[in-house]
Amino acid sequence: MSLPPLVEPAAELTVDEVRRYSRHLIIPDVGMDGQKRLKNAKVLCVGAGGLGSPALMYLAAAGVGTLGIVEFDTVDESNLQRQIIHGQSDVGRSKAESARDSVKEINPYVDVILHEDRLDNSNVMEIFSGYDLIVDGTDNFATRYLVNDAAVLLGKPYVWGSIYRFDGQASVFWAEHGPCYRCLYPEAPPPGMVPSCAEGGVLGVLCASIGSIQVTEAIKLLAGVGEPLVGRLMIYDALEMQYRSVKVRKDPNCALCGDDPTVTELIDYEAFCGVVSEEAQAAAAGSTITSKQLKEWLDDEENIFLVDVREPNEYEIVNIPGATLIPKGEFLMGTALERMPQDKKIVLHCKTGVRSAEVLAVLKSAGFSDAVHLGGGVIGWVNQIEPEKPVY
Ligand SMILES: [Zn+2]
Repeated sequence: MSLPPLVEPAAELTVDEVRRYSRHLIIPDVGMDGQKRLKNAKVLCVGAGGLGSPALMYLAAAGVGTLGIVEFDTVDESNLQRQIIHGQSDVGRSKAESARDSVKEINPYVDVILHEDRLDNSNVMEIFSGYDLIVDGTDNFATRYLVNDAAVLLGKPYVWGSIYRFDGQASVFWAEHGPCYRCLYPEAPPPGMVPSCAEGGVLGVLCASIGSIQVTEAIKLLAGVGEPLVGRLMIYDALEMQYRSVKVRKDPNCALCGDDPTVTELIDYEAFCGVVSEEAQAAAAGSTITSKQLKEWLDDEENIFLVDVREPNEYEIVNIPGATLIPKGEFLMGTALERMPQDKKIVLHCKTGVRSAEVLAVLKSAGFSDAVHLGGGVIGWVNQIEPEKPVY
């Protein structure tokens, strides 16, 4: 499947630009037309770290006219093993500024726009709307789902890459022409399951292998040449020195880009990815019970009020007998508080214990100081108490 060029060509190249890009101009598939499209292109790179470094440098060298950089961090000495857009003298500087200086040194004809903010629900749509294509170099799941969802909602192609130790993956997600990231990974892995590069390490040069795939795909989409990596996942094993690609199909049941989407706007990505807030951690400390404990209380007919804070569709799939469904949102709005009994012990649960910990924080600050929540949620309950029930 080839796709039409993403960008209209610029009016012309200057004499200096013709000299600079001559090795592109003599490739028939790129030529003057393709180079003018690159000049007119606006590409946003999320992160100027491991993947962002080679991506920004090659996008700049290739003549992409406008490069946006989302980055709020500063350069640390431990970055230099792989983040080659920064140098020794940049340690302690803003990564965004350091990256801009390198881009300008490589190609002064590139306009660089810095977004020195943490990408979040409040700014992502506005930032993304100014660009033709998003190159993702983030290393955490919450930001990755945020980038995917915003790209799908805005109809923009999202060039994704991921690296860990000796392994890399890359793909192009574009819901209008193929799957999105959620079609491939509908759910984030449980927190702590997938170690980050900071915890597990990454071979520095792996960034170049995956970053160069991302830039190659970006250029192909912008200029409309070749077969894009839409609907395919590229998997690179540096130890075996093997690249292989597997088909990724659009999932008709995808929560975001499927036939009947349930995600129609940005969601709470930290909660979705199981990042527990500090308040929730504090509330859960000493107030977390196990499935066995809950079973004992239920068997002994203890005076408890068991509340399921998930959504109705989740409750329908599997629930704990005797639980009352009151979704988390009703606690956040405050409407659920009046339904809380004063003469019973309140036990909260959700799917895995993340949302219930957040609701616990709300309840405790409202004065329900002896409320507790179920660690591991309904998933833990099914595993330990009712293994015949389904998990999701
Ligand atoms: Zn999807």
